[in-house]
Formats: sequence, structure tokens, C-alpha cells
Amino acid sequence: MENIWETRRMKNGGGTVMEERCQRCGAALTGGNSEEGDLTLCVKCEERYLAAKQSLQSEFVGVAKIEKGMTTILEGLHDAFGLDLEDVNFKDTPRRVARAYAEIFRGVKDTDKQVQRILGTSFPAEVKEMIVVKDVKAFSMCPHHFLPVEYDITVAYISNGKVLGISKLSRLAEVLAKRPVLQETFTEEIAEELFKGVEALGVGVWVEGTHYCMKMRGAKQVQAKTVTSAIRGCFEEPEVQAEFLSLTKG
Ligand SMILES: [Zn+2]
Ligand SMILES: [Zn+2]
Repeated sequence: MENIWETRRMKNGGGTVMEERCQRCGAALTGGNSEEGDLTLCVKCEERYLAAKQSLQSEFVGVAKIEKGMTTILEGLHDAFGLDLEDVNFKDTPRRVARAYAEIFRGVKDTDKQVQRILGTSFPAEVKEMIVVKDVKAFSMCPHHFLPVEYDITVAYISNGKVLGISKLSRLAEVLAKRPVLQETFTEEIAEELFKGVEALGVGVWVEGTHYCMKMRGAKQVQAKTVTSAIRGCFEEPEVQAEFLSLTKG
């Protein structure tokens, strides 16, 4: 099997002229090329390579900071409240927390790009009825207390000739939920992105949030849910709004 990382040299005519190619994509290196370490890359691949390297470096340094911070938090909990840090279960806790945060927040940097990609996959269809996706679950962190929030989301829209795959609606909500923003902001963002992204006639978004900062502390409202909604376009019309609301509750 051919190794794509191996420099491919193409023979030209009688085999005397050698042409060098990008080790990543195989493009002929006419004009600019660069040597990144041991790699010979075309300009485009070099750009991608440097971006990936930069992103890996930032994550490497950032996750180490989270781990250090978690160590300090545990020490604080020990000093203030006598948490027994000798317990073997705490041995690797800072590292586990750092890894968990990395998993939870990875991708947040590219939210806009991901949203564009999701909305870029619409296809033409003549659907006049309201399209509704219910019971979409997503998780977030509340920006005030940094405790988990569980979202239960309903997204609806009336198409103006462009339709998104159903899975894209839940994906849109998931991607936007990753950022630790207020529930009100999150709800508005889904509505706004969908309204603009598929040039819909109207959009309605209904979000029920279970905030652990309310369940576990403060008000200790174990059952309380925070409800927010956002509408755009024809969803302002009373009949459309009534249909949307009946669907969110039905
Ligand atoms: Zn290339
Ligand atoms: Zn909170």
C-alpha cells in the first residue's frame, strides 16, 4: 500500500525531470511550498497543518491549567470544610476533571463554523406546514455558577422553500448549547440562526431548562423548570403562535 506521507515524485516524459508534490494532498508544488519539519506541504495544507498544531498547543496548555485549578479547588475544600483529600479516590481527580471539561467544551471555539455547516445543508422542498422537532435534549453549564443545565427543546419553523434534515435541528441546538451562555441567549440564538440560515417564513423555539444551581443550592427548587421561548417572522401571528404552543405542549 502506498504511504501518503511519503513524498511522491512523478516522472515526466523520459524520466529526467522530477516534480515534487505535497505530502498531504499530492498536489504539484508549483509556486509556493514549505518545509514544516520533515513535511513538504503545499500552501493550503501548510495552513491547515499550522492551524491544527496551534489548536493542539492551546488545548495542551489550557487543559493543564484546568487541572492545576482543580487541585487548588480541592485544597480550598479541604482547608475550609475538611474534605479528606487522603481518600484514594481523590488521587487523580484534578486530571479526570480536566479531561471531562475538555470533552464538554471541545468544539466551542468553532461554534460559528459548525452552525454554518449545519445550516449549509438545506435542500429545496415545498412544505407549507409547520415543521416541528420535539424533545431535543442538550446539556450546558450555567455561566453564573458553572453547574450543569439540562435542556428540553422544541424547534419549529415554516419553510420558505428551503428545508433542513430533521437531525440538523437537534444538532443545531446541541452545538449552541455547548457554550455556557444564559438560557435566554441560547433560546434566541437557535431562533435567529435558523431564521436567517434557511430564510424561513417563521421560527419558534421553546426551551425548558433544569438548572442544577437551582436544584442543589439557593432556592433548592428540585422540580423548578425555567421556560424561555423565542419567535421570528410569521410566528408573531396569533394563529401560528397558537399552533406552535399547542404542539409544544401536546
Ligand atoms: Zn497539499
Ligand atoms: Zn446558575
